[in-house]
Amino acid sequence: MDNCIFCKILRGEIPSTKVYEDEKYYAFRDINPQAKEHILVIPKCHVKNVAQADEALLGGLFYTAARIAENLGLNEGFRLITNCGKHGAQSVEHLHVHILGGEQLGEDMNGKR
Ligand code: AMP
Repeated sequence: MDNCIFCKILRGEIPSTKVYEDEKYYAFRDINPQAKEHILVIPKCHVKNVAQADEALLGGLFYTAARIAENLGLNEGFRLITNCGKHGAQSVEHLHVHILGGEQLGEDMNGKR
């Protein structure tokens, strides 16, 4: 998608700090971290959000996110979040899962992230 920020990152038109890459997924550091570790995992194909994605893509996305968390040494735990649509406060319309960790997170699930 021409105007999608994350597609631009995938094309190398916008810089990113790469954490992981394979043939289907790409992971990089969030520009505005909400925890000590804050990584975004995205599919290389442009899919708007979790509501538009198929089972295989979502399974692979969450599986990949869990492997990345493991490789980052987040063995005390972590949180995976995917915001969807207006009420979900999704700001970038390219499917992504946030990995948050590296420190104790709050119990409030109604917060910003
Ligand atoms: P969401 O609100 O769930 O759509 O999350 C979008 C995330 O993308 C936010 O946490 C932003 O900080 C992050 N973000 C936006 N632009 C960039 C960028 N160029 N590089 C890294 N992260 C970004």
